[in-house]
Amino acid sequence: MQDFVYQSAPMRVVFGTGTLHQLPDELSRLGVTRALVLATPRQKDLVAGIREMIGEHFAGVFTGAVMHTPVEVTERAMETVREVRADCLVAIGGGSTTGLGKAIALRTDLPQIVLPTSYAGSEMTPVVGQTSGGIKTTQSSPKILPEVVIYDVDLTMTMPPKLSATSGINAIAHAVEALYARDRNPVISLMAQEAIRTLTHALPKICAQPNDKTARTDALYGAWLSGICLGAVGMALHHKLCHTLGGSFNLPHAETHTVILPHALAYNAPAAPDAMTRIAAALGVSDAALGLHDLARKLAAPASLREIGMPESGIDQAADLAVKNPYWNPRPIEREAIRELIARAWRGDAPE
Ligand code: NAD
Repeated sequence: MQDFVYQSAPMRVVFGTGTLHQLPDELSRLGVTRALVLATPRQKDLVAGIREMIGEHFAGVFTGAVMHTPVEVTERAMETVREVRADCLVAIGGGSTTGLGKAIALRTDLPQIVLPTSYAGSEMTPVVGQTSGGIKTTQSSPKILPEVVIYDVDLTMTMPPKLSATSGINAIAHAVEALYARDRNPVISLMAQEAIRTLTHALPKICAQPNDKTARTDALYGAWLSGICLGAVGMALHHKLCHTLGGSFNLPHAETHTVILPHALAYNAPAAPDAMTRIAAALGVSDAALGLHDLARKLAAPASLREIGMPESGIDQAADLAVKNPYWNPRPIEREAIRELIARAWRGDAPE
């Protein structure tokens, strides 16, 4: 075992079914009285229930959250924060809504309660990625880390099978890269293996039977563990590539992760044999990259960058961008091999 440092995040997690109803108690615990509720346009119907539940502590609502946290949306939300004199944020939704709450917290240090409805895992990290002028930059600060996360399985029951599949593989990606992170530690590695194992079993059941409560509970548990991994140790090639591709070609987040993951793993496999053994064991297969490829096929998830909107002409540009800013990865970043990785992912080939 290598030497390690382990630090856990100072946050409170409430997990279960029907836990949304604990929101008033959690607001009282924080000593706040004027909550601004955040959501996406698609999930704005969730706000009425929260309004009824928290009564006089409902200060206002902003339902304009969108993917990649554009700064102009945050600035509009900031006007609402000031208008309603909010003293806390309640973000209900996937990573896009959580991202908006984090961007506001970065500017105001307001306490956040997050109610995740997807498996993105953003709620467990002190990081926000913000987009301005088509460029997405990430920032980390203790102010960004939510104070309270309420995981309510009921909130995930409405997630369509397609989003469940890609969001679930997005979560698996955090755990996969945690296993070969330079600053990995034994506790996070245990969580990562458990996350991969749990999600791998739950996702096919969810896609076959979206209202399978046990599978939904397992998947949300796995997503929480994956989120902890993402927040605790450094990510490498896979996350950097997805960040570049998502930001440069405006590709959907979870789908991009789903397409790239087997290819990034195949690239790193020769340099991280122990991690590959652990990932394969958690997946219940003999080859980690192929196992993830097969899982995505079983879930009928997108297989190529082509089908999620990337132009073929972008392959070279993406390869250039991917090697531009150096970062740590178990295998050195080689332009031609990365170009080949992206080309395979664009076509939807099996990983090699
Ligand atoms: P999302 O939040 O954009 O959700 C996708 C769509 O599905 C949205 O319209 C949303 O309203 C809807 N949706 C979410 N949950 C649903 C449910 N239960 N039922 C019905 N519809 C539902 O997508 P995402 O993949 O959750 O998050 C992606 C965003 O999160 C990206 O901007 C990404 O960069 C960010 N992210 C950040 C971090 C971090 O640590 N900073 C980590 C992961 C993701």
